[in-house]
Amino acid sequence: MNSSISYPAGLPITARKEDIINSLKTNQVTVIAGETGSGKTTQIPKMCLEAFPDNHRLIGCTQPRRIAASTVSARVAEELGREEGFVAYKVRFHDHTTRSTRIKFMTDGVLLAETRQDPDLLKYDVIIVDEAHERSLNIDFLLGYLKNLLARRSDLKLVITSATIDTQAFAEHFNHCPILNIEGQTYPVKIRYCPLPAEIIEERETVLEHCVAVIRDLFVKELPGDILVFLPTERDIRECCTLLEKYINSAVILPMFGRLHAADQRKIFQSFKKPKIVVATNVAETSITVPGIRYVIDSGLARISRYNVRSKTTSLPVTKISRASCNQRKGRCGRIGPGICVRLYSEEDYEARPQYTLPEIQRSNLAEVILQMIALRLGHPADFPFIDPPHSNAVREGYRLLRELGAIDAKNRLTGTGRIMADLPIDPCISRIIIAAKESNCLREIKIISAILAIQDPRIRPAEREQDADIAHKIFAHPHSDFISLLNIWNQFQIFREESRSWSKLRKFCKLHYLSFQRMREWLDLHDQLERILNKREGFANNSVDASYEQVHKALLPGFLRNIACRKEKKIYKNTRERELMIFPGSHQFSRSGEWIVAASFIETNRLYALTIATIEPEWIETVAPDICKYSWSHPAYHKKSGSIMALENVSLFGLRIISGRKVNFGRR
Ligand code: ADP
Ligand code: MG
Repeated sequence: MNSSISYPAGLPITARKEDIINSLKTNQVTVIAGETGSGKTTQIPKMCLEAFPDNHRLIGCTQPRRIAASTVSARVAEELGREEGFVAYKVRFHDHTTRSTRIKFMTDGVLLAETRQDPDLLKYDVIIVDEAHERSLNIDFLLGYLKNLLARRSDLKLVITSATIDTQAFAEHFNHCPILNIEGQTYPVKIRYCPLPAEIIEERETVLEHCVAVIRDLFVKELPGDILVFLPTERDIRECCTLLEKYINSAVILPMFGRLHAADQRKIFQSFKKPKIVVATNVAETSITVPGIRYVIDSGLARISRYNVRSKTTSLPVTKISRASCNQRKGRCGRIGPGICVRLYSEEDYEARPQYTLPEIQRSNLAEVILQMIALRLGHPADFPFIDPPHSNAVREGYRLLRELGAIDAKNRLTGTGRIMADLPIDPCISRIIIAAKESNCLREIKIISAILAIQDPRIRPAEREQDADIAHKIFAHPHSDFISLLNIWNQFQIFREESRSWSKLRKFCKLHYLSFQRMREWLDLHDQLERILNKREGFANNSVDASYEQVHKALLPGFLRNIACRKEKKIYKNTRERELMIFPGSHQFSRSGEWIVAASFIETNRLYALTIATIEPEWIETVAPDICKYSWSHPAYHKKSGSIMALENVSLFGLRIISGRKVNFGRR
């Protein structure tokens, strides 16, 4: 039956089928490197099927992005044409696998989570870690975990696939396993450097206009052909598409980013009578191959998440991509014939960039990493077989934060609190507030708030309609707390949901109120997931009486103690690290906040802005964190009348004075 598996004749990987199958049979680990579009993701699972016809367990294939897991699963299912469910995928909130599934695509996070229930991954015969060059945290976890597991399970096969970037590191990690290089037919690509003229100020609008001018120029002067444009953000892509629609009517304009609807995503694989212009984020760099591209326009930018150890914030700044990424992008147009890659930056700029993007482990919040590692029993990061071990400073900082949150004890063992926190698929600071909410009796409110904090604010402010959006958002706004505003959005949405019971009406509701429908759905999903997990535990039922402002905000504090700030002057606050910050100007709280605030997140551009904030009372801090507050005394004096020693007490939190000169009585002499 397996001999009937067919492979697309044009794909470079097809020519190497025998080598790959041989390597799979004779080696426990095989690294397969090949250019994007050579057929790795879609064809290797089929080759595994063919290599091991007597196996009955799963062939698992991990993907860094949900969007790739679903589109690729659909493609392989179509190519194989087997029974329903034979090829299926599982992502965080949706498991589409069935009993008849043999090829399972999933995000790497899903496989990692499965190691908790099934430490030896006994459901699998073969595991393919796809796109390993991305070096996300999950991939590094998996590669370390699998290294240990392979020693225990000699029957398990591992395939690591990667774009042609630094494959040596993987082979070395797995005892110098073989590397198969898939040589594809590639054509020369001409590079043109076309930076914004120096006298023009680099603002978003001018950059986009420049980009569109370059595309128009290409369109007029070169042979017709499909164009792939790389821009950093969804917003840039939308605006660019609008401009292109206006100026170019002889092409089909297609946006491509992670949150786009599946049906729109699939359009990039269709062929049209007119040439197409696909405007994409870095998903089109290696994850998804847009076929038939002749021209690439590269902004040289991407959003890359980064944890800033100094400000203790994770942000998603638009960053210059590495030279390796620039060249990946360039390579997208050399597959069907000679191509042209226009770089919207100068050659000097290119030369000055780092060769590779740092692996995520070297730029992330290690508290979450460590908590997961402890819960997964992966041991101490110092002993774990990481390809690139994290910096010891960051590890120490991670342990410190976990101790501060009460997730681990002095011996770095999980506490009861920590065990619950590790169960929740959210940042430790956020899971900590759920624990606090149990004590403050405001679980109903905090479950809702924590779910949205773990996602992203659902309120959207489209370019040029910012004011309309602000007006629409006002009806939800609480005068002193963004957290309550979020709660209001949830409540309104639920009322409407019960009345209407139709997704299309809910979509309209979101549109009318400038809310992202997608995020609202994710919010519901994550909230339900949290409820399901918490319902298995004693004492996490919802409060029946609405909680007060004080209850809710006291519960928020233990998770965000480091994010407390007090007013220094007018609009400037000072935080617990003596850094100045401002409330984000677009926020409803911008001109309303009180003397003391707590923030759930920050964004750092030219200065530090607090997002999602609430006004609090400094006295609350002491009641929720007496162990972390520092006490000092001055002016001791003997009080004759009572016969006791009196002094003035100061209380501070990480150096920030919260209570000054409070009279205390040290008792009788
Ligand atoms: P790689 O993983 O090596 O980058 P893929 O296996 O993803 O390569 O892609 C191989 C080919 O299959 C490409 O030409 C790509 O355009 C095509 N392809 C992948 N997914 C789809 C899909 N959903 N519909 C149509 N073609 C697809
Ligand atoms: Mg791929």
